Amino acid sequence: MDEITPQSTNSVKEFRAGFVAIIGEPNVGKSTLMNSLIGQKISIVTPKPQTTRHKVLGIFTNEESQVIFLDTPGLLKPKYRLQEAMMNSARAAMNDADLVLVMIDAVRAKNSSAKEHELEFQLLQSITKSAYLLINKIDAVEKQDLLPVIAEFSAHYPFKEVFPISALNNQGTSELLATIAKELPVHPPFYPSDSISEQSERFFVSEIIREKIFEKYREEIPYSTTVDIVQFKEEKGSKDEIHAEIYVERDSQKGILIGKKGLALKEIGQLARKDIEQLLGRPVFLKLFVKVRKNWREDDNWLKRLGYSE
Ligand code: GDP
Ligand code: MG
Repeated sequence: MDEITPQSTNSVKEFRAGFVAIIGEPNVGKSTLMNSLIGQKISIVTPKPQTTRHKVLGIFTNEESQVIFLDTPGLLKPKYRLQEAMMNSARAAMNDADLVLVMIDAVRAKNSSAKEHELEFQLLQSITKSAYLLINKIDAVEKQDLLPVIAEFSAHYPFKEVFPISALNNQGTSELLATIAKELPVHPPFYPSDSISEQSERFFVSEIIREKIFEKYREEIPYSTTVDIVQFKEEKGSKDEIHAEIYVERDSQKGILIGKKGLALKEIGQLARKDIEQLLGRPVFLKLFVKVRKNWREDDNWLKRLGYSE
């Protein structure tokens, strides 16, 4: 016999909104997941005053919920100040969040020893919220390879649920979003769903440039690079003019970034400009400058200026 489901046609669903921290080493697929979840619906707003500009990754809003994803800069061994600052910032993001997503790379997890995950395990100890384990890139491993990985990570934290996903192929991602949305507290939206502020535009623009640099120079220019938007001018009747300074630590890195006859930098600029124009929905003129600032990673004031420490 069929079950009768009550139809609540005129009941108002309670809106849910909250903050979700994504924890994961570089290259596990955080940005890809954001693109997959938020896609064209990305809406950028000024982060709350008490959060640094490095924290809001993306905001998903629909009729029922608003999920604000907080970025946590990549996890690295706290050898340098920057890495310490990153760890602190990951902890801070977790504190601000209603939910935590711990994201790992299935391929890397399968091929690495427990020792290589020490830092992640250490960070798991400081989670005080509900957390989900996201095992990404399942398109690139066999199903049976996942079980030992799940067992290993679950031994270090009582995850509420485990989501094997492929951010690249949108596998399991909409289920993930639905689960997250249900888990958030009943709360009105924190941000208007369609407002874009200049401050956050700047942030996303610098992230796009950084992304292009990482994509091109994964090994050579790892965490020595940071991007500062020094000019962001809206020109009436002509293209916006954006000037960005890219900071590296050594002259040799500056040389690599600029390339022969400036061709490498030109390529970065072209790729970044395309994405920036798509993001802003208007044409821009992007000018990049490469500067050397020795040991910027050790400089507290500089880290603060770039939003790494509070
Ligand atoms: P992030 O540093 O954590 O933001 O990682 P990215 O999103 O930049 O992804 C790092 C690399 O992993 C990129 O080359 C992605 O294309 C790739 N990647 C991300 N998600 C998947 C996935 O589900 N499957 C596969 N095979 N590759 C992925
Ligand atoms: Mg990323």
